[in-house]
Amino acid sequence: VPNAANHAPLSPVSFLKRSARIYPDKTAIIDGEARLTYRQFEQRARALAAGLAACGVVSGDTVAVLSRNRHEMLEARYGIPMAGAVMNPVNTRLDAATIAFILGHGRARIAIVDTVFAPTVLDACARMAAPPALVWITNAGNATPEPGQAYETLLAAGRDDFAPVTPADEWAPLTLSYTSGTTGDPKGVVYHHRGGYLAAMSNAMAFEMTQSSVYLWTLPMFHCDGWGYVWSVTAMGATHVCLPGIDAARIFDEIETHGVTHLCGAPIVLNTLIGAFDAAGKRLSQTAIFALGGAAPPAAVIRKAQTIGFAITHLYGLTETYGASALCVWQPDWAALDTETLAARMARQGVANYAIEDVSVRDVNGAAVPADGATIGEICIRGHTVMAGYLDNPAKTAEAFADGWFHTGDLAVCHPDGYVEIKDRAKDIIISGGENISSLEIEDVLYDHPAIVEAAVVAAPDETWGEVPCAFVTLAIDTALTADSLIDYCRERMAHFKAPKRVVFCELPKTATGKIRKNVLRDRF
Ligand code: ADP
Repeated sequence: VPNAANHAPLSPVSFLKRSARIYPDKTAIIDGEARLTYRQFEQRARALAAGLAACGVVSGDTVAVLSRNRHEMLEARYGIPMAGAVMNPVNTRLDAATIAFILGHGRARIAIVDTVFAPTVLDACARMAAPPALVWITNAGNATPEPGQAYETLLAAGRDDFAPVTPADEWAPLTLSYTSGTTGDPKGVVYHHRGGYLAAMSNAMAFEMTQSSVYLWTLPMFHCDGWGYVWSVTAMGATHVCLPGIDAARIFDEIETHGVTHLCGAPIVLNTLIGAFDAAGKRLSQTAIFALGGAAPPAAVIRKAQTIGFAITHLYGLTETYGASALCVWQPDWAALDTETLAARMARQGVANYAIEDVSVRDVNGAAVPADGATIGEICIRGHTVMAGYLDNPAKTAEAFADGWFHTGDLAVCHPDGYVEIKDRAKDIIISGGENISSLEIEDVLYDHPAIVEAAVVAAPDETWGEVPCAFVTLAIDTALTADSLIDYCRERMAHFKAPKRVVFCELPKTATGKIRKNVLRDRF
C-alpha cells in the first residue's frame, strides 16, 4: 500500500536538492568565467521560484524562457517547477509571429528572456492581446529593456523562507515544448514530472554518466529539455559546461580546458566539428562520448568521428518522447568488426532506451513487420517517457496515440537482431516511377565523397517519373565538382534509379538544432 515511507511523486527537480546536499561545494555549472557550486545552483533556483511566487505565479501557470545555453537557463529549469509552474522553453531561432503564437497558446504569464533576443520578443509581444510580463537576463554592460524587470531583481524579490513546491502528483505537467511546426501550427508537447525523472535516469545510464562526468552544452537546452540532460547531469552531480552557440574552435578549447567527457548533437554538428578539427590538425587528448541524434548519421560521419577522438552513442527520438527513445546499444562482438561494417551497424537507430517499453516497426494494419531488414513499416513507441499529449489539441493527440502506440511518422525496417533502422521520414521518402527511394541511402553515398561537407536529398517533381531525387550539396572550400560527375559517382555506387537526377550546390538551411530543413529545400520546387 503506498504510504509516506514508500511513495512520493517522482520529479526530476528532486535531483538538484540531492546533489546540493551531497556535493555542496562541487562545481555544478561552468559558464564562461562564471562558476556555480551545487549549493549556489540550488539557492539561485530557489530564489527564482520565490521571486516568481512574489510576482503571483501559482501552481499550473506557464513561465516561458527564451535563452541561449547559460546558467540562468539551468536555474530556470529547476526554479520554475519549484514555484509549481510549467516551463515553456521556446526555440530562440523562431520568428516573432511564431513566438507570439507559442506564448499565447501556452498561456505564458511570464517570459524570461536573454536580452540578445529582445527585438524579436518585443515584436512578438506587440502582436499579442495579453502578452506575458517580461523578465530580462541582461548581459554585461547592457541596460534592462522596457517593459520588464531584470532577472537579478526578480531573484532578490522573493521571501527567504520560501518553500519550494513539490508536485502533488507525478503526472503533473513539467514542461511545455513546442514542435517545430513545419506542417501547420506548432503543437505544444506536455511532459510530466514522472517522465522527466525517468528520462533523467535512462539518459544517464545510456550515456554512461558518473559524478566525474563533464557535459558540454552544444545542444540547445530548449530542445526536449536538452534531450533530458538538464536533468541527468544534475542527477549525477556532474558538471554542466554552458556554451552560447556552436563555434568549433571554442568547442575544442572547452573540451580540452575542462576535460569534457560528454556532449550531444545532430550529425551535422558532429560533421562540422570533424571538418574544423581536421582542417586545424586537432585531435582530442582524451576520448569524449558524443551522443549523436536528431537525424540519421551517415556511416561516414560515425567512422570519421572516431579518428578525432569521439566515441559515438547513437540515439533516436522525438520531442514527443522526451528526446531519446531508442539507443543503438553496443554489442561486445562488434569489437571484431571492420570499421565499415561497424559504422553501418552503429548508424542504425537501435532498440528501446531504458524507460521505453518497446520501439516497434508496424505495418498499416498495426502488426509488427517481420524482422527481415527489408519490410518497411512505421516506428511506433510505448513507454514511460512518452508525452502526456498535445496541449489543447485532442484531435492530434488521439491521432498520435491511435491503437495504444505513439506513432512517429518515421519509416523503418527491423533487422533480425531486433535493431530498427530508419529508411526515411514518411514525408521525406521519394517515390520515383512507383519505386520508393530512401533519401538517407543517397545521402550516405554522398557523405563518403571527400569533397562534400553536407548533403541533403529531397524529391523534385518530374513529368516522367512523378518525383526524382535532387541532391543539395555543400562542397569543402577549394574544391570543385560538376553535377554530372557527382551523378556518375552515385551511379557507380548504387542502383541507377536511386541516383540523384539533379544536383544543386549551395549552403543548406538548418533548424536551431542543426538539422537540415528539407521542407525548405522542397519548397524551392
Ligand atoms: P522536428 O525535427 O520535426 O523538429 P524533433 O526534433 O522531435 O522534431 O525530431 C524528431 C524526428 O527527428 C524523428 O521523428 C526522426 O525523423 C528524426 N530523428 C531523430 N533522431 C534520429 C536518428 N537518430 N536517426 C534518424 N532520424 C532521427
